[in-house]
Amino acid sequence: MTARVTLVRGDLTQQRADALVNAANSSLLGGGGVDGALHRRGGPAILEECRRLRAGHYGKGLPTGQAVATTAGRLDAAHVIHTVGPVWSATEDRSALLASCYRESLRVAAAVGARTVAFPAVSTGVYGWPMDDAARIAVHAVRETLAEEPGPVEEVRFVLFDDAAYRTFEEALAAEA
Ligand code: ADP
Repeated sequence: MTARVTLVRGDLTQQRADALVNAANSSLLGGGGVDGALHRRGGPAILEECRRLRAGHYGKGLPTGQAVATTAGRLDAAHVIHTVGPVWSATEDRSALLASCYRESLRVAAAVGARTVAFPAVSTGVYGWPMDDAARIAVHAVRETLAEEPGPVEEVRFVLFDDAAYRTFEEALAAEA
């Protein structure tokens, strides 16, 4: 059975899930938007683990399109999975990197045994990706990964911050069905 894909309008940091995905930047040391909100609500344990990752395997930071898990601190989750979305470009097609964020995050989620995973709309904030295109890429990448790599994940939840984003994801889901 493939996992179900669900939509919620709300704040990612308030979600209960086995894993919450962070739209991080490659420094892993915090930022604005989702990143800042997750660190604020999750407390210092997340940043401590990010610093350890930077001191170890990710000395140069987390490359765009990849994902790595840490503790979720005080969040209502077991793990935060940090992924770095591409900055949107009008001249270069970076869609494969955005799709990779979803695929790699789901791989990490499977590796830590997560059954429920909540995603924000990666790259659609400070990184400037148009919501309709980002939604289409996100929905397709998640569906494809779930179909090709069955694992423990039972629910993938997109958590959209406002009504417009929610409706755009609703349309993308309907178009993919
Ligand atoms: P990026 O740098 O990848 O663009 P941002 O965090 O700036 O990431 O924004 C990604 C998306 O998440 C945007 O659509 C933004 O409106 C939304 N967002 C910001 N804060 C939250 C939150 N607390 N919960 C869910 N979505 C959020």
